[in-house]
Amino acid sequence: MTRPLLNRRLDGFGTTIFAEMSALALRTGSINLGQGFPDTDGPEEVREAAVRALRDGRGNQYPPGPGVPELRTAIAEHQSNYYGLEFDPDTEVLVTAGATEAIAAALLALVEPGDEVIALEPYYDSYAACIAMAGGTRVPVTLRPEDSRFVLDLDELRSAVTDRTRLILLNTPHNPTGTVLTRPELAAIAELAVERDLLVVTDEVYEHLIFDGEHLPIAAFPGMRNRTVTIGSAGKTFSFTGWKVGWVTGSHDLVNAVRTVKQFLTYVSAGPFQYAVAAALRLPTSYFRDLADGLRAKRDLLSAGLTEAGFGVFRPAGTYFVTTDIRPLGATDGFDFCRSLPERCGVVAIPNAVFYDTKERGTPFVRFAFCKRTEVLNDAISRLKQLRS
Ligand SMILES: *Cc1c(COP(=O)(O)O)cnc(C)c1O
Repeated sequence: MTRPLLNRRLDGFGTTIFAEMSALALRTGSINLGQGFPDTDGPEEVREAAVRALRDGRGNQYPPGPGVPELRTAIAEHQSNYYGLEFDPDTEVLVTAGATEAIAAALLALVEPGDEVIALEPYYDSYAACIAMAGGTRVPVTLRPEDSRFVLDLDELRSAVTDRTRLILLNTPHNPTGTVLTRPELAAIAELAVERDLLVVTDEVYEHLIFDGEHLPIAAFPGMRNRTVTIGSAGKTFSFTGWKVGWVTGSHDLVNAVRTVKQFLTYVSAGPFQYAVAAALRLPTSYFRDLADGLRAKRDLLSAGLTEAGFGVFRPAGTYFVTTDIRPLGATDGFDFCRSLPERCGVVAIPNAVFYDTKERGTPFVRFAFCKRTEVLNDAISRLKQLRS
């Protein structure tokens, strides 16, 4: 056989770095601040709601294709209560197998071969793979480090748009940089989308993990409601990343397009968990505030520890990741640095270069997750301080 087994569209998409680094953590007994999942579960009452649904036989058989009505209604209420966005739960809300499936279904539905998709670089690893599966061409617009924040250059974004541009893929709060797009930035992106008649797919899974500023959904900007697919997820907001309950909101036409693909990917998923997430979305606002407050304290703890250990630190405004610059430690290559870090001090991190097309732009940056128990973070910090000696 001369033809490669793997579909050529997926050339270069080997095993993710997360698998390599998590295996390294296990082998060396290191603290894993690489992959972003919490080391404690979400609210007990939400877990109990899942148990109840399972026992009561709700969702144990195929739930409705678009998601159970209780959850679709709760999602619509959430968008209305938090952002003043009104969606019809019957036609403008779709439940997916995590945000991951929502991203895949949206891109496969909206992108044709030859279409260009603009994505903010560095980007979440599934974006590139899904654009490739759709046969699209990705056009990265790189967030540049400026003082203590990674910044979007709006002129660069504007000049990246061509006649072949189909959509802009946004992510705010942004993984891995922790940047939260501001009102003026989002207004400019919205104006550009309207002017050039572009769709926007926006990954907002960290919408409630905000420490400075506020989360603004681009769907709420003038002219955007009917050209935006908004993606959310219970994984990050409620600390149940294993449940894989995500959702899409948007106009009837957009949601219908995404659903057309989604029905042939998983059809449905996570039946009983859908009822539990409906309950979770109705938790009092204090839950969401406490979540952000708790993570803000962890951000401050890890940021201070990393600074003391000698890293350059980009303090994130959102998400549960902090990006660092390793050059003040005398290192230059994030890959080498992350491969040797477990032996040197028993901590695992992720080299940001994996999130770049132009690897050189991400070479000196390394990402740490802080969604871990305080004692784990303190232990990691004291280990990292050995780098100074
Ligand atoms: C974690 C993450 C996802 C995946 O969300 P799931 O609901 O677990 O599929 C999507 N986008 C970003 C930016 C993420 O960090």
